[in-house]
Amino acid sequence: MATGTALRCRECGREYPVAPIYTCEWCFGPLEATYDYDAIASTITRESIAAGPASIWRYGPLLPVEAPAGGALAAGWTPLIRAERLAAELGLGELWLKDDTRNPTNSFKDRVVAVALGKALEFGFKTAACASTGNLANAVAAAAARTGLASFVFVPSDLEAGKILTTSVYGGNVVAIDGNYDDVNRLCAELAAEYPWAFVNVNVRPFYAEGSKTLAYETAEQLDWQVPDHVVVPIASGSLLTKIHKGFDELHKVGLLADPPDVRVSGAQATGCSPVATAFTAGVDDVHPVRPDTIAKSLAIGNPADGYYALDVIRKSGGACGAVTDAEIVDGIRLLARTEGIFGETAAGVTIATLAKLAAEGVVRRDERVVAYVTGHGLKTLDAIEPHVRVTATIPPSLDAFRAAFPTLIEEN
Ligand SMILES: [Zn+2]
Repeated sequence: MATGTALRCRECGREYPVAPIYTCEWCFGPLEATYDYDAIASTITRESIAAGPASIWRYGPLLPVEAPAGGALAAGWTPLIRAERLAAELGLGELWLKDDTRNPTNSFKDRVVAVALGKALEFGFKTAACASTGNLANAVAAAAARTGLASFVFVPSDLEAGKILTTSVYGGNVVAIDGNYDDVNRLCAELAAEYPWAFVNVNVRPFYAEGSKTLAYETAEQLDWQVPDHVVVPIASGSLLTKIHKGFDELHKVGLLADPPDVRVSGAQATGCSPVATAFTAGVDDVHPVRPDTIAKSLAIGNPADGYYALDVIRKSGGACGAVTDAEIVDGIRLLARTEGIFGETAAGVTIATLAKLAAEGVVRRDERVVAYVTGHGLKTLDAIEPHVRVTATIPPSLDAFRAAFPTLIEEN
């Protein structure tokens, strides 16, 4: 039973019936799905969740759409991994990684798309569409193919070749726009007014964004129904960070956590696109748009829709927002791979490098239980890492050649 009951303006609080709309007619504030938490609390239990599917749909009552029939649109229930080697390198105590590379198209976007396309089907749409920096493109194209929807995916034309290939393969329409993500997003808002399509991050955004809450639900459940002290989350639009915070809160509202959660939420950005980190450091409320220039293209949103709300969550929770250079992003990717055997994309490099920086500054503390969110797989951004890795040696197929290449190995043994 899905209990998303209405949409409510995050600015003025006016309510609207559930429909494919996303801005308030009165104040142009963003709309958000609301729930009857008392009703949910009377039915949901830790046991009912444990008996559910190994996907985001185990938290069905806390999502704004019924689970689609037939097992389609599965995403989530990814591993939460204790990262002892990485913790030791960073001087941290209890560190966990939420490995969302393990989703159907290898990023957390499969969660939000599962909810968005479920809602699109419920509304009767025949076509799914999106503006994307890449990961969303993969997820929409794949989920549309699986559910029999047509798809139109709009991306900046300078996107990594790998992300275009891994979108086009699903057979939908992929349209490259000569412009950056903010240009693509603006165009999609205009298209959404003209074409009867479910734009997952435009007219279906209030539902779509709710899918990210499942990252908080899973984290708490996998920690045996406890919350972390501190989470580190990458920021693109800022939606993911605000929804993880909301997700922990909701678990208390429906009685799954006894105490109100007190989770510090920290954000991670690339210095080449760091409007939220810049506002945080300057101590101001306004998030000024920037022109992105970073290898972390999946985070390259210069005018983040939820930047203001993300900044608010970071400040109120006692977190911080850091930014790291392209070189530090590459180091972050390699550090994660070298210590934990997880190959993350550039956004993961941003998260790990920012975690390292915040740990060095004493913002993320050794006495905290920390969770860092690894949101996408490294095979999506090979271009970023390719110049920095090579084979250890190239030799003829002979024992002598190997001995010559590694003369000290036998002595070491
Ligand atoms: Zn309003």
